[in-house]
Amino acid sequence: MPAVEPENILLLPRLSEPDETLQTKKVLVRTQAPGLLEGAGFPVRRPFPSQDIPFTLSDPFLLLDHMGAVEYAPGEAKGAPWHPHRGFETVTYIVDGAFRHRDSHGGGGLITNGATQWMTAGSGILHDEMPPDDLVKQGGLFHGVQLWVNLPRKLKMVPPRYQSIESDQVELLSSADGTAIIRLISGELDKYKGPGMTRTPIIYAHVSLTAGSQLRILWPQGFNAMVYVLAGEGIAGGDDTRIAEGEGVVLGSGEVLKIRSRAENSRTARLEALVMGGAPIREPVFSYGPFVMNTRSEIVQAIEDFQSGKMGHIPAAHLLGEDPH
Ligand code: MN
Repeated sequence: MPAVEPENILLLPRLSEPDETLQTKKVLVRTQAPGLLEGAGFPVRRPFPSQDIPFTLSDPFLLLDHMGAVEYAPGEAKGAPWHPHRGFETVTYIVDGAFRHRDSHGGGGLITNGATQWMTAGSGILHDEMPPDDLVKQGGLFHGVQLWVNLPRKLKMVPPRYQSIESDQVELLSSADGTAIIRLISGELDKYKGPGMTRTPIIYAHVSLTAGSQLRILWPQGFNAMVYVLAGEGIAGGDDTRIAEGEGVVLGSGEVLKIRSRAENSRTARLEALVMGGAPIREPVFSYGPFVMNTRSEIVQAIEDFQSGKMGHIPAAHLLGEDPH
């Protein structure tokens, strides 16, 4: 699992260890992410929205898609060709392999091994999310996630924005004892800040725990708290709930978020997980496919605006087949 690896974990800035007397959050819900096909037919696991984790628990997040890890055969890799979005942000983090992104505002690039692409759809944008040609032709390893972050009513129609966060820009930290890597993509932990600029206050991090490692993070009051396992197994929360690849948990009240990887003799020695949370928006959510608004009439408006070209157009070069890709 490449993502971004520090040369020496012991040289990273360390998070302070939360006081022992603070209350550890317990698991409210655990889910086994159901699998489905997205876009042109690529397999994803989607821990939320789901029956176990409805929007009221994931707020301010709307959706998480875990893509892979998959070893594509030649000709097998697929993506999500040109489609619109309005009313939220898509955050694509690639752990292994590459994904190519282009949008109707000229944003885009190759997202690869530890990089993140942050697209604020806002008032509306068209984009295209595809595996690069060489991955389609030759096949290969692909592993990534896409998180949807909601926008509050007053920000749903902000102008679209694109941020490309390269792997070397991610804030790399370690746990107080130097046994866990924290890749802070967005938000603040202690005095450290991730590079992702978000319209909604969140924390989004990819953590790697070596065998038998325990990570305790002082969590901001008022943020919800979730953990999703990309690989490996361990436990989460003050009640030591077992978590494994493809499983997600929502944690309840308390001040400290705790996870631990399985001990050394385990078959899967390293725990790879996303740790995330944010300030809930607590507004009605009316979603229809790629549009997430507050009311039905705003969705009707979004469909009309898309159909009349107000969300932008597919750049002509792509339609004419002149695209160098
Ligand atoms: Mn999309």
